[in-house]
Amino acid sequence: TSFQGFGLAEPIARALVDENYVTPTPIQAQTIPLALEGRDVIGIAQTGTGKTAAFALPILNRLHSDPKPTVRKSCRVLVLSPTRELSGQILDSFKAYGRHMKVASDLAIGGVSMGRQVRAVLPGLDVMVATPGRLLDLVNSNALRLNAVEVLVLDEADRMLDMGFIHDIRKIVSKLPKDRQTLFFSATMPQQIAELAAQMLRDPARVSV
Ligand code: AMP
Repeated sequence: TSFQGFGLAEPIARALVDENYVTPTPIQAQTIPLALEGRDVIGIAQTGTGKTAAFALPILNRLHSDPKPTVRKSCRVLVLSPTRELSGQILDSFKAYGRHMKVASDLAIGGVSMGRQVRAVLPGLDVMVATPGRLLDLVNSNALRLNAVEVLVLDEADRMLDMGFIHDIRKIVSKLPKDRQTLFFSATMPQQIAELAAQMLRDPARVSV
């Protein structure tokens, strides 16, 4: 397999050339075609398998094929991750793979001033990468609305559960449109994670590496 077979938009294909990505990793080979079709996906994959590109590339392809002006205090894509560090890495990946596109993206993580984050979301974003607690702070202070989210990504769901984010995640999900795509990644699939996924996803395809 090669990346050409996915039919990704030209600016994304060019970014992959810049990155020297030639062959999709196994999680990418399985996830990208399903995500491009609009399917919900449960991916069982560890860090280091290339799972970030597995969700970021189809999301960027959606933004490219269906461009929309940003909407004040709103975002089209919400990526939840357990830590500031991982959130920063995910944002960097979106910026790298989206470097030949115009993508408005930012972080909402603890440790950054609320004022700065409120200002960042005011004109609206395409992609918001966030830790659950800080994301809820933004929503609860009416700085961010979640009614226009088209794609939700949960990255390292098992770690988010271990860190006690389950309640925040449920609250966030309850504020999202039902009609959305959900991409759910976890390194392990204990009972509690399987139940959460069953509640959040619609007819999900399962992939594992
Ligand atoms: P991740 O599991 O998303 O944290 O990615 C792990 C590392 O693999 C990152 O440094 C990526 O830049 C790199 N990577 C992801 N996909 C590919 C690919 N198809 N070819 C080469 N490197 C890749």
